[in-house]
Order: sequence, then structure tokens, then C-alpha cells
Amino acid sequence: GVSVVLFTSDLRLHDNPVLTAALRSAPRVVPLFVVDPGIAAAGFAVPNRAAFLAGCLAALDEGLRARGGALVVRRGDVVTETCRVAAGTGAGEVHVAAGVSGYALRREERLRSALAADGRRLRVHDAVVTAVPPGAVLPAGKDHYAVFTPYFRRWSAEPLRPVLSPPRAVRLPEVLTGPLPAASSLARGAASPALPPGGEAEGRRRLAAWRRGGLARYAERHDDLAGDGTSRLSPYLHFGCLSPVELAAGARERAGGGCAGAEAYARQLAWRDFHHQMLAARPDAARRDYRSRGDRWREAPGEFDAWRSGRTGYPVVDAAMRQLAHEGWMHNRARLIAASFLAKTLYLDWRAGARHFLELLVDGDVADNQLNWQWVAGTGSDTRPHRVLNPLAQADRFDPDGAYVRRWVPELAGVPGRAVHRPWLLPERERCGYPGPVVGLEEALERFKRARGRA
Ligand code: FAD
Repeated sequence: GVSVVLFTSDLRLHDNPVLTAALRSAPRVVPLFVVDPGIAAAGFAVPNRAAFLAGCLAALDEGLRARGGALVVRRGDVVTETCRVAAGTGAGEVHVAAGVSGYALRREERLRSALAADGRRLRVHDAVVTAVPPGAVLPAGKDHYAVFTPYFRRWSAEPLRPVLSPPRAVRLPEVLTGPLPAASSLARGAASPALPPGGEAEGRRRLAAWRRGGLARYAERHDDLAGDGTSRLSPYLHFGCLSPVELAAGARERAGGGCAGAEAYARQLAWRDFHHQMLAARPDAARRDYRSRGDRWREAPGEFDAWRSGRTGYPVVDAAMRQLAHEGWMHNRARLIAASFLAKTLYLDWRAGARHFLELLVDGDVADNQLNWQWVAGTGSDTRPHRVLNPLAQADRFDPDGAYVRRWVPELAGVPGRAVHRPWLLPERERCGYPGPVVGLEEALERFKRARGRA
């Protein structure tokens, strides 16, 4: 017998229940990845993630070849192509990871019925993309958690499935070849200059280094913008080069041994699962306000442009936006500050900001991006939806010496200490062409309070 493994957001050999189940069900498997033009048509194929994805696929192919297999890549509608490969190899089953987005859920439905029409079976596997599957823990009488703290309590007590070893050998049914896609064939345009390389091997190297190094000090350092004390593993989690179950199990174990860093880290992994279970229950939260606050967002293309290009005149906001453009990644605290500035200070529609983030983030993810944006905009799960982050107070607290700003805003690189956060107080020649503030903070705060009916 033959079975097909349809790789999606699980581009790894370690701890992959989809692959493990397929290998158990049949002596030969076809490891398949389908490049679906529908994703590009929906605007989701962007240069940064395409570059990372090409690296992931190359690494997966290499890992499979070392075990006697290879990655089979097809191009076209994912359902049509998967059925074609299954028919061509006589496969009885197709294995896939359970998804959470509207796109993934539709793919699953279509695959199930198309395969069934042909006498084949779809087998969907949980706890691949998240550590705790959506729906595994529920509040009484509801279909998902809308508040993090009670979710986290249940998440922490929920047992994780065992971590699986990578397969020793993978046997293909026949020689199915085809070139791996180059990044340039996956998306148009140039990628950011300082992207991390994609792939499972690279992800595991970084994970090992993180466990030896930063993890122990994560609790104290995770909010320090210049200290950069977070794992930076989010792109590897997004593409499934690393397993959330493996990471959560490791973090829980070390937390149990008294490591405060590991405990704080496990909490962040729970945020990821939390957002996935929200999106799985409310797929339209990707576009619509999860909780409407009756917002009538302003329209100000010039201000949006200043934000997007890192020229708002608020150095910590601009540093954040320039880091995003350069690295395709942004520190979590910086994401909070930059997003709050757009949605609350400028009072522009969070959707436009979220779209820009998704265009550049290597870890750009519908669940995590859209629902974090909604949290910040006060239309999501924040239990204090009308709070507004003051970018100056945030800068003083999380970049106390100004080093983060000096790293990303070269115009101000010569300004010492925290004076760098208030360049309008400097003589003009020391500002080196850096723009003045796009808006006054007090005026903006009043406007926001009025808009939310809290003035
Ligand atoms: P660490 O601090 O090392 O955290 C460990 C892991 O936990 C991360 O790798 C990530 O997978 C997960 N995580 C941490 N915080 C969150 C969170 N708030 N929500 C969900 N998961 C979390 N994360 C994405 O993966 N993709 C996105 O598209 C995304 N968009 C965001 C947009 C906004 C406006 C905000 C405020 C946050 C967003 N985040 C997103 C969450 C968070 O900022 C990133 O996961 C984190 O910065 C990644 O860096 P790290 O791997 O060093 O994180």
C-alpha cells in the first residue's frame, strides 16, 4: 500500500504525527507539497515568506533524501493535485495536519469529499500546528475561550501528546521527481535584506542554542527592546519546522524544575494556541472585528504612509517599522507599540496595519497576526480594550538607554541616552533630517477617547 503525506504548516521530520501515521499505515509514502497559485492570488505569497519557504522545502527534501525518500512538489490547486498524485500512485489514504484558518478548513472539506468520491480516505491529525488542539479545552457552554488567563490555566493542565522521533527511513512508491521551487517562483519582488534562513535543520540549531542560552533569562529579558532576549523561533513555528508540542513539553519540563524563564516561555506558546483556537472558532475574525466597538476609523493616507515607512517622528515607532522592513521580524514589544500607534494614536483601521505586517513578517500568520492586531485595537480579547500605549512611556521603559532606536534610526545614531526618544527637543542640526511628530499625543488621546465614547 501507499499513502500520501500532504505537508502544509508542518515542514519537519521531527515530531510530525502526520508523517508518523502515514508511515505506520503503509510501507511506502509520497511526501507531497503543493504550491497553490490560489495562495498567491489571495495576496499571501510575499517575498519574505517565499524565501523562507523555499529554504524549508529544500531542507525537508534533504532530510527525506537522507532517509531514502524525497519531497514531491506539484503546482496547482492543492485538492486537484493531491487527488492526482494519490490516483497516480494508487494511494489509499492522504494524511494532513488539522488547520485552523478558513482556508485550511475549506481545503480539508474539499479534500475529504474529492478523495471519498474516488474511494480514498483523508486522515486529519491534531496537535501538529498547535500544542493543544483548538477545542481541546473549552469553557462551559462555549465553543472557544475569548479571554487568555482562564485559557492559560486550562492549557497548562492539559496533557501533551508524546513527542515523536523522526523516521529512520522513508520509501517512495516510485521515482517521482520534479524540481524544488526557487523563492523567485513563489512570489514577486525583493525580500528583506536580513531574513533568517528557513528549514528544519536551521530551526533545530537555533532551538538548541536557545535552550542552552537565552531561555533561562527569558522572564527578565523578553521585554527589553535592545537586549533582544527572545527566541526568534516564530518563523520556524509558523512554517512548522519546529513542533509546538516539542517546545511546550520542553518548556513545561524545565518550568517544573523551577526555571522561571521556561515558565514565561510556555506562557507565550500558550498565547499562540489561544489565538489559533479563537480563529478556528471564528474564521471571520481574520477580517472582521471580533467585538465591534462601533469604530469609525479615520482615513489619512499620508499618516498611514508615515507609519508604514518609519517616519512618524516617534523614534521608537519608527525603529520598530524599520526593523520590520530590514529583518522581516519585529520584537513583540515593538509590535505592540507600532500597532497601538496605528490603531489608537492615529486611529486608523487595524486591518490596513495588519495587511502591511503580513506583507513583511516571516512569521506572518493569519491567527497570530490578525488576533494580536485585534487585541491591540481593542476589538479582540484584551479585557482593557480602551487603554492606549503611550509611545514615549513605552520607549523610556523598554528602551531605557535608547540603544534600540539608535540601532534602527541612523539619523539619530549620534544622540546619547534616552534623549533619543524626544528628538523635537534637540537643536535641528542634531536631528539630521529626522521628521517632526506626525501628531501630538495629547490631541490624539482625546480624539480616541471621544471616538470610543469615553471622553
Ligand atoms: P518569543 O518571545 O520567543 O515567544 C515564543 C513563541 O511564542 C513565539 O515564537 C511565538 O510563536 C509565540 N508567541 C509569543 N507571543 C505571542 C503572541 N502574542 N501571540 C501569538 N504567539 C505568540 N506572532 C506570529 O507568530 N505571527 C504573527 O504574524 C504575529 N503578528 C503579531 C502582530 C502584532 C500586532 C503583535 C502585537 C504580535 C504579533 N505576533 C505574531 C506575536 C509575537 O509578537 C511574536 O510571536 C514574537 O514576537 C515572535 O518572536 P519570538 O519567536 O522571539 O518570540
